[in-house]
Amino acid sequence: MKIFIRIIRVILGLVLLAAFAYGLYTFAQAAPKSGDIMSQLEGEETIAAAPPAAQLTPAPQSAPVQQDTPETLPADLPETTPPPVEQAPEPTPLPDTPEGRAAALGLPAPPNVDIDSWEYLLVNADNPLPEDYEPEQFGYINLTLSERDVQTYFNPNRVDSRVDLRIAQALVDFCGAAKDELGLDIVYLTSCYRSYASQAENFKRVCINNGIADGKDKDGFYITMPAGCSEHQSGMCADIIDKWRNPLRAADLKDLPLEVWMAEHCQDYGFILRFPEGKEQITGVMYEPWHFRYVGETAAKYIMENGLCLEEFISLYK
Ligand SMILES: [Zn+2]
Repeated sequence: MKIFIRIIRVILGLVLLAAFAYGLYTFAQAAPKSGDIMSQLEGEETIAAAPPAAQLTPAPQSAPVQQDTPETLPADLPETTPPPVEQAPEPTPLPDTPEGRAAALGLPAPPNVDIDSWEYLLVNADNPLPEDYEPEQFGYINLTLSERDVQTYFNPNRVDSRVDLRIAQALVDFCGAAKDELGLDIVYLTSCYRSYASQAENFKRVCINNGIADGKDKDGFYITMPAGCSEHQSGMCADIIDKWRNPLRAADLKDLPLEVWMAEHCQDYGFILRFPEGKEQITGVMYEPWHFRYVGETAAKYIMENGLCLEEFISLYK
């Protein structure tokens, strides 16, 4: 009986041992699963670390694109880059020459003239003539152009006016052509040469008649010039109208057939409309449709064809 009990105990011991062994086995089965969790956690870290890798990769991807595209880009770039290359030369200043200055104003090349020659003598408020200035030699012209010859001496037997002899024939030709073209009885030279003293008288009279002191109208433009500042002292201009008139008003005379014809043809005879409408700010003088100035045909054509005044023309050269 004791043996039987010992056998039972051994069996129970074996069963317990087996049960313990099974428990160890089961634990051993669960242990690897926790290892997987660790590896999963590590995997999450790598996934979390992956984005930076993914962020880095796009760059290498775009880089190769740029490396591949250069083959096509060079073809496109030259087409877009030329404009800036063309714009760059534009700032280069135009040559400081008459041609360059004219080009800067959108004007054609001016004629090659000696701007210090007598034809271009500038007389205005800023450029007065000396009190004793007078033309070297006078030419005497009939005021009404009833006689078209030019005399070199004073003839008391005929009404005459004086101009610089060098412009006398051109003035006679100019006025004679207007008279013939328009079928006028007379072309009246109401004022040609005026001495410094006579201009001083003229200035005083016009100022009194207009209730002014400085010779200027309400807009600040001269209607009569102070002595020395009048172009008439040069003997190179004339006030040309159809009959004796006083005073001369632009509003009355601008549409006069004689003035219209003369403004259109003066350059053919070497004359310019000296005080054009719209240039008052430059000349400083009111619009005078009757006042024509000799500058020679070459300059006259350039000035009239380009709508300039004498100040603008001369400024191209100086
Ligand atoms: Zn005048």
